[in-house]
Amino acid sequence: MSKRNIAIYLSTIGILFLITFGWYTSAFISQPTTSKFDGQRALSAVETQLAFGPRIPGSAGHARAIEWIRSELSAAGWETRIQSAEVLDHPINNIVAFRGPDQPTIIIAAHYDTRIYADQDPDPSKWLEPVPGANDGASGVAVLLELGRVLPIDSLPIWLVFFDAEDNGRIQGWDWILGSRAFLEELEFIPEAVVIVDMIGDVDLNIYKERNSDQELVNEIWDIASDLGYEEFFISEEKYSILDDHTPFLEQGISAIDIIDFDYPYWHTTSDSFDKVSATSLNIIGDVLLSWVLSRNNPR
Ligand SMILES: [Zn+2]
Repeated sequence: MSKRNIAIYLSTIGILFLITFGWYTSAFISQPTTSKFDGQRALSAVETQLAFGPRIPGSAGHARAIEWIRSELSAAGWETRIQSAEVLDHPINNIVAFRGPDQPTIIIAAHYDTRIYADQDPDPSKWLEPVPGANDGASGVAVLLELGRVLPIDSLPIWLVFFDAEDNGRIQGWDWILGSRAFLEELEFIPEAVVIVDMIGDVDLNIYKERNSDQELVNEIWDIASDLGYEEFFISEEKYSILDDHTPFLEQGISAIDIIDFDYPYWHTTSDSFDKVSATSLNIIGDVLLSWVLSRNNPR
């Protein structure tokens, strides 16, 4: 190689080095600070809960779920406390997750318990069996846990709340929404917005606007779903009126909504099992909630 060729060779290497290094640098700098919601990881959180068995208040599966939810949150950088109460002689254990001392402007919540009896099962011989709760219980918890992993640390103050004892209405000695009612008994501030997610993992996802929910907040979230191209799943029509964990908030005049897919043939049956839930559906819910929190961080 002549001196001139060596010079050309070296400068070519230099340019290639600069291009490569420069590309890496800009890729690093432009890396978004927000992680993506991972529906597959949320789905595996459904599977984990099902492996605990039914999460009926007082059961071993329920106790394991509390321990596991708290450890998952802790690993994602959240502190947790148990808000406990006794209602109708049942101990209530709501799990409250937070990331700082500030009162939350937003609460996102789901129930983690499962129903004692599968009394909607088409086979009457199964009415005394427990509900596995893949969609009715585990799906909401899975979305909250995955949100806990991806919500940026600098977002507005949020609580993730896991309600106990939501699902035992019309059973002797019980009622619906015991956990969220107990939570409201002790709540000492008014959050700006409360979003409940329940039964949102259905493979065949159809979420209608729930009639009792705060209409302004419903429209805000449905608009975000539409911006993300999810209007097929967040249907712009009202369908059901539902008593759920948003009810005690609404009764206190707090802006609250229930995001629920009540078109679920396996509701309160023994067939509410893992195969009925999909990563895609969990991902859609997660994308919408994450975008909504970020939009509240940076109002348009
Ligand atoms: Zn239920």
